[in-house]
Amino acid sequence: MTMQVGKGVSATGRVALDAPIFDPVAFRLNDEQTAIIARAREIGQTVFAGRAAAHDRDATFPTENYRDLHRVGLLGIAIPKKHGGLGVDYQTYALAAAEIGRYCGATALTWNMHVCSTLWSGPLADDLDMDAAIRAEHERRRAIHYKRIVEDGAIYSQPFSEGGAAAAGGVAFGTEAKPVDGGWVVNGKKIFASLAGHADYYGVLCTEVEEGEQASRRNTLYLAIPAQSKGVSVVGDWDPLGMRGTVSRTLLFKDVFVSEDAALMPRGIYYQAALRWPHMFLTLSPTYMGLAQAAYDFTVRYLRGEVPGMPPIKRRMYPTKQIAVAQMQIKLEQIKAIWFQAVTEAQANPSKEQVLRAYAAQYSVMEGANELATLGIRTCGGQAMLKSLPLERVYRDSRCGALMLPWTAELCLDRIGREALYEAGESDD
Ligand SMILES: Cc1cc2nc3c(=O)[nH]c(=O)nc-3n(C[C@H](O)[C@H](O)[C@H](O)COP(=O)(O)OP(=O)(O)OC[C@H]3O[C@@H](n4cnc5c(N)ncnc54)[C@H](O)[C@@H]3O)c2cc1C
Repeated sequence: MTMQVGKGVSATGRVALDAPIFDPVAFRLNDEQTAIIARAREIGQTVFAGRAAAHDRDATFPTENYRDLHRVGLLGIAIPKKHGGLGVDYQTYALAAAEIGRYCGATALTWNMHVCSTLWSGPLADDLDMDAAIRAEHERRRAIHYKRIVEDGAIYSQPFSEGGAAAAGGVAFGTEAKPVDGGWVVNGKKIFASLAGHADYYGVLCTEVEEGEQASRRNTLYLAIPAQSKGVSVVGDWDPLGMRGTVSRTLLFKDVFVSEDAALMPRGIYYQAALRWPHMFLTLSPTYMGLAQAAYDFTVRYLRGEVPGMPPIKRRMYPTKQIAVAQMQIKLEQIKAIWFQAVTEAQANPSKEQVLRAYAAQYSVMEGANELATLGIRTCGGQAMLKSLPLERVYRDSRCGALMLPWTAELCLDRIGREALYEAGESDD
């Protein structure tokens, strides 16, 4: 196979590896980060890329990719080292996920749901306020979840969407957890639940409601419900435009009992995180950063006659092709710059400027990835949009990014406009 930008070879020595999206020297990454991100890139390019078309065609979940992620330690990428994980920070995870997204969008997006259960309960929760007893209890509980992932390869998902206003952050989740002896009884419904039927635990966002109490967002719980629990069912089909391998079917919970150890975060901590650690919602973007790079990589290779299995197509001498590639490169660098800055400055209590930049980064990546794929198809032409080549899948997968709550492209525009013009509490009355 001919690769345009070979930098090193795969562990098997057979494939010339693509250059990283973010050059470690130019972007000042340390050796440990560089090695972990390279591990993600190598498995993405050499293993996941080859399986992506079949999972997309059949809308099947890439179970074997998860076995591979476990084998190379990436299932536990954000689990603290003392619990057996790789212990990476937010930025390193984001850069690794972008490399996976470059080769298989569905794997990267579902891996994000899994990793968030450890990132939010791990480094992110460490930044939040808890008293010593609650922190000790959280430490004991999260160790249970981390052990399952590190030792057994358990897969976690993250269903929060319900079809109402809750996923956008407007109201309390309609899925309710009633406290009972030793745990909770959960009832509710989640739509677009990626990994439905394939995760071992569903990391459900729900509202703790005592008998006769009003539901409140402050009482949001984050519970890892075992997939095999009595009362859990997966319904409906999944035949969407893109991200078909995510298998995001509907989950129903009918009087499901879960024990107290199912809590991925203590009471009140998800609410605190949503207020104080807003970059937690930017984690859907790395997948699409990778897709943006994939659209560009493909277009350059195609015009250079380097796509495996395609005859050389002599088109790169035309100025229109060169201008289109120049526009793509400029767009890609713009996306990379703002996104890298946003994922690098993710932290507790960001400034207003940092929050607005995070929305702008999310918008730029989600809309930009699809703009690049659109331009790539127009520029390469008809033969490049056949399903035998990855550009067509990148085009469909990238269209999904702007729809992802809570930071859809529309809601990002909404928030930037409002928060730039009004300080907290200000009104025109
Ligand atoms: C491939 C894929 C995988 C997914 N995986 C998961 C998953 O694993 N877990 C999960 O929880 N969800 C997941 N989602 C769900 C996703 O976040 C949305 O919930 C889903 O796309 C359905 O949302 P909707 O567009 O129908 O929402 P609606 O709430 O009906 O929104 C429709 C549009 O209206 C706009 N809108 C919504 N609320 C407001 C508002 N208050 N003000 C102004 N505009 C508003 C938004 O721009 C939105 O795009 C996934 C979605 C996709 C496409």
